[in-house]
Amino acid sequence: MIPSVLPTYNRAPIAFVKGEGSWLHAEDGRRFLDLGSGIAVNALGHAHPALVQALTDQAQKLWHVSNVYTIPEQERLAKLLTETTFADTVFFTNSGTETAELAIKMARKHHYEAGQPERIEIVAFEGAFHGRSTGAIAAAGSEKMVKGFGPLMPGFKHLKWPTNDADHAAIRAAITDKTCAVIIEPIQGEGGIRVVPDQCLKGLRDLCDQTGALLIFDEVQCGMGRTGRLFAHEWAGVTPDIMMVAKGIGGGFPLGAVLATEHAASAMTAGSHGSTYGGNPLGCAVGAKVIELISDPAFLAEVARKGALMRQGLESLVARHPQVFEAVRGEGLMLGLKCKLAPTEVVKAGYEAGVLTVAAADNVLRLLPALNIPDADIAEALTRLDQAATSLEHAA
Ligand SMILES: *Cc1c(COP(=O)(O)O)cnc(C)c1O
Repeated sequence: MIPSVLPTYNRAPIAFVKGEGSWLHAEDGRRFLDLGSGIAVNALGHAHPALVQALTDQAQKLWHVSNVYTIPEQERLAKLLTETTFADTVFFTNSGTETAELAIKMARKHHYEAGQPERIEIVAFEGAFHGRSTGAIAAAGSEKMVKGFGPLMPGFKHLKWPTNDADHAAIRAAITDKTCAVIIEPIQGEGGIRVVPDQCLKGLRDLCDQTGALLIFDEVQCGMGRTGRLFAHEWAGVTPDIMMVAKGIGGGFPLGAVLATEHAASAMTAGSHGSTYGGNPLGCAVGAKVIELISDPAFLAEVARKGALMRQGLESLVARHPQVFEAVRGEGLMLGLKCKLAPTEVVKAGYEAGVLTVAAADNVLRLLPALNIPDADIAEALTRLDQAATSLEHAA
């Protein structure tokens, strides 16, 4: 008999009842150190007092009003986002996949209204993840996500993940007079914490400038302070035309945003797009508090410092457990451990050791702790990961 909850997830038999900072308490009394943060969602840890306050204050005033009215909380958050980024304008969603849909629509309509309706193609990359809606799975194109769901939205070209000059030449060749946009995660999350070299992001920016294709960065996972900058692309010194943001921006409340330049967004006029819940007062009240806390330069410097501390610990973990781990990758607190065995095995051993991690593609174990994880919890996390690795060696 089919379970009452549609069985689309491989769930672990652990149920949590309470979260506090970097810790989760399970129903059965066990405590887990959370290095997954709901896949980079609980950016400020669980039950952050300032976020609880922002949410409950708003909950007592107003939960929902339609987007046919002016929503001051939305305007406030949009102002914070445009002041702290390249963007001139923002559309709010409830999730990451909805940001993919709008990014695609915005890019196509931009060229349509500019008198080039033939520009509908989008260059995307292997191993990408942009969400589970039909447009987003077509954009990512992975066999696992698209099989059986056809016909897919046409117009996507999938190129090798860019790491060098030859890849750059391939991208140049793939951008034609039919191309409307290039979409890329500056650091692939689901794909296995794969960082695009700064040179490649710069090269992409140049190609887009030369051809008029719009550059879309999917920062749903790598954004919101995770790399030690507010957004990951800032390290490369280039900006996109359109950026997708979700996960961390709500700190646990469902919230996403598409940020764009005035130029890229110029075709999105009244009636061209919408959402019932997108930008509702609850989400925006929390989002504004999250941005306020994370965009503080002192906070971001701490993320970078904690990232370096954790990385150092992970390097020695790799050195001590060469049968389990191969290398460390990532930036800031978006870290990956390339594994010698299936990362899901390490995740399971982690459950026994009381530490939560997330598997990704490319045999990588993802570590996405709260951005404000205390140093003592980083040390404890490393101890628990060490225990997990030791138990796997003994089992082998
Ligand atoms: C999680 C994720 C998405 C999709 O977000 P949902 O909120 O699950 O729809 C899109 N892009 C990236 C890079 C992600 O990590």
